[in-house]
Amino acid sequence: MDVAADLRAQLLRLVPDERRVSDGESVLDQHSADLSYHPPHRPDVVVFPESTGEVARVLEWADEARVPIVPFGAGTSLEGHVIPLHGGISLDLTRLSAIVALRPYDLTVTLQPGVTRSQLEAAAGPHGLWFPVDPGADATLGGMAATNASGTTTVRYGGMRAHVLALEVVLPGGRVVRTGSRAVKTSAGYNLTNLFVGSEGTLGVITELTLRLHPIPDHIVVSRAAFPSVESACRAAAAIIGSGVLVTRCELLDAMTIAALNAFSGTDFPTSPYLFIEFGGTEAGVAGDLVTTRELAEDEGATAFESESDPTARARMWGARHNALMASLALAPGSKAMTTDVAVPVSELASAIEQARRALDESGLRGGIVGHVGDGNFHVAFLLDPNDAASIAQAEALNALVVEDALARGGTCTGEHGIGFGKLGYLEQEHGDLIPLFRGIKQLFDPNGIMNPGKVLP
Ligand SMILES: Cc1cc2nc3c(=O)[nH]c(=O)nc-3n(C[C@H](O)[C@H](O)[C@H](O)COP(=O)(O)OP(=O)(O)OC[C@H]3O[C@@H](n4cnc5c(N)ncnc54)[C@H](O)[C@@H]3O)c2cc1C
Repeated sequence: MDVAADLRAQLLRLVPDERRVSDGESVLDQHSADLSYHPPHRPDVVVFPESTGEVARVLEWADEARVPIVPFGAGTSLEGHVIPLHGGISLDLTRLSAIVALRPYDLTVTLQPGVTRSQLEAAAGPHGLWFPVDPGADATLGGMAATNASGTTTVRYGGMRAHVLALEVVLPGGRVVRTGSRAVKTSAGYNLTNLFVGSEGTLGVITELTLRLHPIPDHIVVSRAAFPSVESACRAAAAIIGSGVLVTRCELLDAMTIAALNAFSGTDFPTSPYLFIEFGGTEAGVAGDLVTTRELAEDEGATAFESESDPTARARMWGARHNALMASLALAPGSKAMTTDVAVPVSELASAIEQARRALDESGLRGGIVGHVGDGNFHVAFLLDPNDAASIAQAEALNALVVEDALARGGTCTGEHGIGFGKLGYLEQEHGDLIPLFRGIKQLFDPNGIMNPGKVLP
């Protein structure tokens, strides 16, 4: 009997449903890759559990049999996180998709890890509530917790760590533990909730999350403004945030990204760097914030300052922003993107982006720059030919330059995407002295090394 067939037979004893233990070609392929340039590698089998008990049974057996487990949410992560480098089991959590309890009075929700961001939005909206962490892709909440995702609204609300109150986690060996509580604060012992958030499936499988929700602001307005340069846009962003204006989002798009969006989404923005800014609060408060913002933007040479409060127009603008990566990829059909994700202190942002743009222009590679500028976090999407080793090597060299520059400025190699295996070397560069401690933590939770091997730690 071949290994995969044997594995499937073993797993069918634990999850007795032919449709939920699959080694079909297309299912294996769907679980072999992410959206990045990283080369695919198939799991031997994909399992779709429907309960914590099933996850526990699979982890107990896999730990004994030393079979790798790779948790899989929506597969939108960008550093090879979900690629089963050593085969084994891809554990697809999308069938764990129940909203267990939504508590409007407490502003919390308890849900299973396969619930997606848009499903949560649909459930919370009728209560006048929303979950603001928005990584752009329609990711699962389990995947977002496992990567400590953040995004356009982090400048006001924080990322996943600021929102996860409690977790249920299945550890290798099958033990089920609960961390945190439904209270919004706790000082009870070591913060294991925050350890699992961002652990990228290397310590255990998250099977339930309790998250904070927020009231939807009464009045929301989005503005956009064109700037003469990326640096002036960054300076304006820092001034706006420093003035105390309550921005919900503050996003930079460079001229090349704007050109790509115009071609991709049919917009007709003048081709120069832009800030897209969102405000939320009372009508009077937002009106005051808009006046201050416009003045500060115009001080930096902003033109074409336009605002909209209509929900459809707002959704169209953020839709265009969220299409930025796809729009850049459409510039070079067949290309893949290597996306940098550094974050620097806000005071360093303008010159860090300027340096990245110069290196990109000099290299001859194409690529746009977008940034969650309120957080000092920016992405350069290097477009490369995945079949051309030279183009990958060139992008890797540029990526290394951008990371080195960010670290020299007191920043980090990843503001939100995480390590996966694409940034293993950069983690070592940033936190080499901590690697032995990281290894000790890994050994404690996963002594047999079955959880997502080859990720976060080599
Ligand atoms: C166009 C685009 C834009 C993006 N923009 C952003 C952005 O602005 N900010 C941002 O943070 N990210 C961004 N991302 C990356 C991605 O959307 C996030 O990393 C997201 O959080 C991944 O969620 P997922 O459900 O797809 O997880 P997956 O990709 O399926 O998994 C991610 C990691 O989490 C682990 N995992 C998944 N579920 C569980 C679980 N239940 N228990 C334990 N481990 C688990 C996996 O093993 C893997 O290591 C973007 C991606 C795309 C394609």
